[in-house]
Amino acid sequence: MTAVSEIVLPVTFETLGLAAPILEAVKAAGYTEPTAVQLRTIPEAIKGRDLLVSSQTGSGKTAAFMLPALQKLTLQHEKPGRGPRILVLTPTRELAVQVTKAADTYGRNLRVKTLSVVGGMPYPLQNRMLKNGVDILVATPGRMLDQMNSGRIDLSRLQLLILDEADRMLDMGFKDDLEAILAKVPKTRQTMLFSATIEPSIVRLANSFLHDPLRVAVDTAQTRHVNIEQRLHFADDMGHKNRLLDSILGHPDMQQAIVFTSTKRHADQLAQDLHGKGHSAAAMHGDMHQGARNRTLQALRRGGLKVLVATDVAARGIDVQGISHVINYDLPMQAEDYVHRIGRTGRAGRNGIAISFASSRDSHLVRDIERLTAQKIEVSVIEGLEPKMRAFSKPAPRGARPGGGKSYGKPSGAPRREGFGGYAKRDGRPAGRSPARTSPYAK
Ligand code: ADP
Ligand code: MG
Repeated sequence: MTAVSEIVLPVTFETLGLAAPILEAVKAAGYTEPTAVQLRTIPEAIKGRDLLVSSQTGSGKTAAFMLPALQKLTLQHEKPGRGPRILVLTPTRELAVQVTKAADTYGRNLRVKTLSVVGGMPYPLQNRMLKNGVDILVATPGRMLDQMNSGRIDLSRLQLLILDEADRMLDMGFKDDLEAILAKVPKTRQTMLFSATIEPSIVRLANSFLHDPLRVAVDTAQTRHVNIEQRLHFADDMGHKNRLLDSILGHPDMQQAIVFTSTKRHADQLAQDLHGKGHSAAAMHGDMHQGARNRTLQALRRGGLKVLVATDVAARGIDVQGISHVINYDLPMQAEDYVHRIGRTGRAGRNGIAISFASSRDSHLVRDIERLTAQKIEVSVIEGLEPKMRAFSKPAPRGARPGGGKSYGKPSGAPRREGFGGYAKRDGRPAGRSPARTSPYAK
């Protein structure tokens, strides 16, 4: 095939229509060029269009909405008052904190007051801060609705409403809260909805609350996390999972990992076990107090913590660049969660490794994930920790091939790589072969 060379013009933040103080802050953050989603979203957002945006995790969605939001604040506003001009709704407290930080980072050269209103924060403090006035309000739906209903938030100045990780907000059961909030914001506001995946429920929400939205789909869940290497280990039982985990955590390539379990209790238990084995590990889940969650996240960010054992909800949206590995100790029940989980590694264009443990009962989960991502996950074996099970289904795997697989073990002997019975091959490529690694960043 002959390559047709495209003329690629340099893309810079300067071409997007952002004011100088914002451009300076972006530069200070070390960003040299906009990501694909930023490139497509920012100019349209500045024009005032409603947007329905889907883009993979780690692709830079926060700046895609926060930069145009800040741009709005640089313009003169008509209505005096204390209420927010920008409202960002996020599914979790952690994400709200991250978005608030982003507003501070990108708005450092502007006089902008950002405030987060999330559960777990004492009301008196929150109420006092609200009284003092706010430009950008970042909130979780439950607490937002609480504060609205008690009359503490004046929405009459609201110009822009942003729904971040809207898919997750629906998954978490915030649909009614969202609708109640959306019903009370000024009709004239601009609305932007961001999501990693666009499902029918999202489209319905968009249809009822967005006005003639521009649909921007950059990298949906269906496209590959091309910078993330995905592996699957068959695990016979929990003891086997624990030994695999031990070996992976001890590998020299390991910097920091998030290990996912399916229950809060198990997250606590596993973190404790790992700690006992000498790993620097801690748990994070929804039952923990906000202070403890913040401290854990801080420790992770500063590198003092190596292993975070988490549940889906708690780890949602965590953006820590040192995360080299995501390990699915238990596979998620929903394939979408797999996409969100592995997106915790490979941040900001880096490479990452996502490892899943699958027991004999998990074949349907793996199949769902592979369908959603349109990708095979390569089966991998660690030398000395070979599973008794070799495949999910009874019919012997057609695709068993010798050698070439990844192994953490001593380099003696070729590791085995096998396909799953019945669907080991696709497009004539060996199962699980990743496509060429490319950066999700716009060129
Ligand atoms: P998403 O919300 O799509 O999952 P984030 O907004 O959390 O992604 O961004 C992921 C990471 O990429 C963050 O660390 C962020 O600072 C970084 N990032 C965002 N935009 C750029 C850019 N233009 N250049 C370099 N890094 C960027
Ligand atoms: Mg995000």
